[in-house]
Amino acid sequence: MVKIDDKLYQCEKCGSHYVEKNIAEECEEFCKKYNACNIEIIKYAVENK
Ligand SMILES: [Zn+2]
Repeated sequence: MVKIDDKLYQCEKCGSHYVEKNIAEECEEFCKKYNACNIEIIKYAVENK
């Protein structure tokens, strides 16, 4: 999980950006574990809003 700035975090695995740090961490954990994105998490990505 990479901190882009004070209000944006990026999943290192899939590259999706999130405003919520904990969701970015959840995304990265899932991405690393399953090598795929969780649709229930990635829907919160800024790219998908
Ligand atoms: Zn991810």
